[in-house]
Amino acid sequence: MRPARAAVLRLKRGRDRPRHHPWIFKNDVADVSDVAPGSAVTVVDSAGRFVGRGHYNPRPALCCRVLTWADEPVDAGFFERRIAGAVALRAAASAPPELGRLVWSEADGLPGLVVDRYGPVLVVQSLTLGMALARRQIGAALARALGGLPVFHKDEDAAARLEGFEPAQGWAGPAGPSTVEVTEDGVRFTVAVGGGHKTGLYLDQRENRGRFGALARGRDVLDGFAYTGGFACHALAGGARRAVLIESGPEALAGARDNLALNGVADRAELVAANAFDELRRLERAGARFGAIALDPPPFAKGRTQLEAAARGYKEINLRALRLLERGGSLLTFSCSYHVSAERFEAICREAAADAGVRARVVAPLGQGRDHPIVLTIPETRYLKGLLLEAV
Ligand code: SAH
Repeated sequence: MRPARAAVLRLKRGRDRPRHHPWIFKNDVADVSDVAPGSAVTVVDSAGRFVGRGHYNPRPALCCRVLTWADEPVDAGFFERRIAGAVALRAAASAPPELGRLVWSEADGLPGLVVDRYGPVLVVQSLTLGMALARRQIGAALARALGGLPVFHKDEDAAARLEGFEPAQGWAGPAGPSTVEVTEDGVRFTVAVGGGHKTGLYLDQRENRGRFGALARGRDVLDGFAYTGGFACHALAGGARRAVLIESGPEALAGARDNLALNGVADRAELVAANAFDELRRLERAGARFGAIALDPPPFAKGRTQLEAAARGYKEINLRALRLLERGGSLLTFSCSYHVSAERFEAICREAAADAGVRARVVAPLGQGRDHPIVLTIPETRYLKGLLLEAV
């Protein structure tokens, strides 16, 4: 039997300048040898020189994500080194964090893989066929780095459809607990493993929830898109007088109710099951005022084409929130739409303030937590932007 020829992807001339970005689109490719979808290919430039090695999938337009720029095999050892590196990056005083994102895809040199830790449980998301096929090696590498915590696979349907694999939903090995209690800077949350949005919590907002808690003392606060009450729980634990939470999802609302009770602050909270667009207007008409407001909506723009409609949505909620702010009050406002740039978001907030007739000071720009690192040469790794505004 002849040895299998190495799988090679050759880049087109002009598309093969030194690369710092892991994405290769079909348009960039001159030719590719016969290779099983989801396996690793060696990427070479138009002259045949080594560029890197990545997962190949002929199905999506983004057909190859480079995993390494070094001439090393993509094998069990590779995943071990990368995962150990990602965990070490986040380890304060040598212990890996008990709550947070441990591996974040392109930002950790593992495009298509997300690993989040919720106390005694790891939740793993494969976003590419290559990572889905490497699940066993990834599991072994995680066991080595973190000592065999139970792993729950929670793949996204949309990514699985695009990449052509069966999304995994369930424990990789022996089942772990179905719910876990985690503590985020002194505030407790119950997480249903495998349930809810994202991998359970919006881990990217950790630092911002802490900030909200610190500004809330003695104030009435509003948590505009509350999910399971993250911002409100931090505010009440930080000494807020009262919190109003708006949330349209019944399951999220139930989670918020549980978390408020878990922290012993339910008596100071009011849960409103409503569309935030309507409720913000109603509160304004009712003459309500708040000393701190968090607006953390879902992405209004999922693609470039939705940008204008998204801008109108962001402007509307920020205009209403600014009108609800007491003088000296703080608004933490966010957009997690990648297609809305930080500049655009600030411009939208500027228009909202002008139309609301509110003078607001920009106290600080806000963004995703440090365990969701931003790689300078991969601008797509920056997606969450926000502003801390103060009404003057
Ligand atoms: N701030 C939260 C995460 C918010 S995610 C945290 O720190 O955990 C956005 C939430 O807004 C989701 O729970 C979603 O169900 C809710 N949502 C989406 N559209 C809404 C609307 N129009 N009105 C109220 N809630 C909405």
